[in-house]
Amino acid sequence: MIYEKSTQHWFMTEALREAKKAYKKDECPIGAVIVKDGEIISRGHNEKELKNDPTNHAEIVAIKKACKKLGTWRLNECDMYVTLEPCAMCAGAIIQARVGRLFIGTFDPKAGAVGSVIDLLSVDSFNHRVEVTYGILKEECSTILKDFFKELRKR
Ligand SMILES: [Zn+2]
Repeated sequence: MIYEKSTQHWFMTEALREAKKAYKKDECPIGAVIVKDGEIISRGHNEKELKNDPTNHAEIVAIKKACKKLGTWRLNECDMYVTLEPCAMCAGAIIQARVGRLFIGTFDPKAGAVGSVIDLLSVDSFNHRVEVTYGILKEECSTILKDFFKELRKR
């Protein structure tokens, strides 16, 4: 299914809504949604601090929920929208889950593993290729992070 730009924006807005949930819990505001056949089948936001679990990133939470819901670990028919460029762990999970397409809000120059620090999703030797689109609602996705860190520094 090919989505119009406005549809991509709509799904990223939903990922941002997840990021805002993380923000309210004092977590680094990152959110993700997984879409299949034009519908959101799972949502996730960062809960690393709350759960004391370094693997509890938005993408991992959303992947786990989607797999449970669909009864399969294969998400090749699914799209993921995530507000921040995935880290190495999440990029690995995206490959493992065979996510079909990935839509990224803003870049993570310090830890991004889909082009910034390294680009795990463009390694030819991996037999799964993910189609990646960057910069969906880039401003909004980056502003929420900047606001969060600005607030943190004030404390
Ligand atoms: Zn991650």
